[in-house]
Amino acid sequence: MVKNNLRGDGRELLNSIQVQEQEIRNEIITQQDKLNRLRSEIERREGLVFKIASIFAKPDVDTAEIEKSIPIIDSKINQLFSDLMSLQDRVAPIYDYFLTYPPDWEKRRDEVAKRDGDECSECSSWRQLHLHHIKPLSKGGSNKISNLKLLCEECHSKKHGGRVFSGDFSNSETAFSKRVANIHYAINNDKRIKFGYKKPKDKKHKQRTVIPTELVNVDHIRNSGSTLCVRGYCELRKAERVFALKRMRGIKVI
Ligand SMILES: [Zn+2]
Ligand SMILES: [Zn+2]
Repeated sequence: MVKNNLRGDGRELLNSIQVQEQEIRNEIITQQDKLNRLRSEIERREGLVFKIASIFAKPDVDTAEIEKSIPIIDSKINQLFSDLMSLQDRVAPIYDYFLTYPPDWEKRRDEVAKRDGDECSECSSWRQLHLHHIKPLSKGGSNKISNLKLLCEECHSKKHGGRVFSGDFSNSETAFSKRVANIHYAINNDKRIKFGYKKPKDKKHKQRTVIPTELVNVDHIRNSGSTLCVRGYCELRKAERVFALKRMRGIKVI
C-alpha cells in the first residue's frame, strides 16, 4: 500500500518530476512562439509590399525553407505535449495521496465532470459546483477520482453539517489544507513549526516547537478511522512525538 506520506525518495522523485514538467512547459512556449513568428513571416511575405521589395533584394532565408520548418516544429510540440502527459501520469499516483489539494486538482475536477456530468451528484444543479472528498482527507481519504464527486454549494453545505461555503473549499477544509501545506513546506525546507497544541485531557493549548519529519495517518485504537498527524522532534519534550493536526492551533513555520 502507498503510505500517506512523502519523504526521502518519494519527495525527491516528486521534485524532479515537477522540475521536468516546468522545463517541458517552458519549451512548449518557446516552440509555439517560434512557430507563430514563422507563420506571421510567411503571411508578411505573401503581402504585396514584400513581393515588390524582394524583386530588388533577395531575403536571407527562402520562403520555402521556412515552410519546410513549420511541420518539424509542429511535431516537436506534439512530442513535448505527449512527454508532458506521460510525466503527469507518473506523478498522478503521488498526488492521489497528497494530504492537501494536489496541483492537478483542476484536471481531476474535469475528469469527475466527464464521469458524472457537470452537475451536482445529489440534486443535478449545475450552479456553483464544488469538488468534494467522499471520504475526507483528514480521515485517510485520497484525491483519487473514485473518492471525488461534484456537489452544489447547498448540498456541499449539508454534507458538512450545515457549514456555509463561500469558495470551492470549506473554511475548515482550507484551514486544514493550509496546515498540511505549511508542514510540507517545513519538512522540505528543513524548517521548524510552532503551534498551540491541546491534548484530549488538557484545558488549554500549550505552545510547541517541532522539527517535523513526516505526515502520517495514525489509525484509531477504538474504531476504523484514522487521524492525520505530523511526526517530529518536540523541543518541549525533547523527544520524538506525534501531533494530530486537528488539535493544533495557529501553526507557524519558523
Ligand atoms: Zn446539489
Ligand atoms: Zn467537501
